[in-house]
Amino acid sequence: MKKDIKSMTLSELKEDMAGMGEKSFRAGQIYEWVHVKLVRSFDDMTNISGELKEKCKENYDFTDLKEVMVQESKVDGTKKFLFELWDGNMVESVWMKYKHGNSVCISSQVGCRMGCTFCASTLDGLERSLTSSEMLDQIYAITRLTGEKVSNVVVMGTGEPMDNYDNVLRFIRLLTDESGLNISQRNITVSTCGIVPGMRRLAEEKLQITLALSLHATTDEKRRRLMPIANRYSLDELIEACAYYFEKTGRRITFEYSLVGGINDTNEDARELITLIRHLNCHVNLIPVNPIKERDYVSSTHEKAVAFKNKLEKNGINVTIRREMGRDIDGACGQLRRKVIHQ
Ligand code: SAH
Repeated sequence: MKKDIKSMTLSELKEDMAGMGEKSFRAGQIYEWVHVKLVRSFDDMTNISGELKEKCKENYDFTDLKEVMVQESKVDGTKKFLFELWDGNMVESVWMKYKHGNSVCISSQVGCRMGCTFCASTLDGLERSLTSSEMLDQIYAITRLTGEKVSNVVVMGTGEPMDNYDNVLRFIRLLTDESGLNISQRNITVSTCGIVPGMRRLAEEKLQITLALSLHATTDEKRRRLMPIANRYSLDELIEACAYYFEKTGRRITFEYSLVGGINDTNEDARELITLIRHLNCHVNLIPVNPIKERDYVSSTHEKAVAFKNKLEKNGINVTIRREMGRDIDGACGQLRRKVIHQ
């Protein structure tokens, strides 16, 4: 079986080159073509001999994405890309322009098996996990297509990163590698629905990335209604894992809280949330739920969202209401892919 060259570290590539009887600087050159110059094939590597290119083609796969569709928001310039993978599966990625730089939201799996009731990505279940190279490809393709540098990456698209732990970790190491795109660890956020062993394992890696926890409810009972994963891990265990992450990394936790009208946006919910997290070094991101047509959840009203935010703020909690970017282009997880594969 061929190796996936874009998922290999520079030292792994050096070892391979030595094994092929090549000089080790060749590994550096190839790595730069792949991860800095972002070429799409071995043929594009102009300082590599024809002979070595042929050897590479024999030994390695070179992943690439096909751009299927781009939608651009008329409201805020957000772009949503639908890409086709080598096996015909499709993933979506989102490009957002902020004052402080460009941010890309990538998918970590094709589909998802977590079953959150408000989320479009999970409706068809999990197809497969993405390789590290396929996660990088989303960023590399968007960099090429927009002609602009990406400075922030959020692993918040389709899929549960902790359900694809090893590939996600390798992806982060490659993305932050000095010899690659060299994106700062501090500019990377990984969002999880709350798989406790994964969160603890991530804490041990001592990376400087941000861990975001999709909380969405303040009691175990309410959380179970929205997120099946809550049957496996209790809120107590989750909060402890968050405290542990902060203890090990010094990075404050982000809590994502999607406001669903009448379900989790009451005064009582805000009070319970405060009690749950006030002792933690954290930040809360309130996201008015993006309604999907398969479910009858409605978004909280703007007034409700603001009241919720104010209540948290009064109690000393850092909170923002997420700007709802790209709502006019099926911005919520998994909406575009579903629309295309079910049309
Ligand atoms: N599996 C990971 C990352 C993907 S989802 C996780 O659960 O965190 C990224 C975020 O979007 C999560 O907080 C998720 O709960 C939220 N989300 C999914 N569908 C949504 C919708 N329709 N409206 C608002 N937020 C949604």
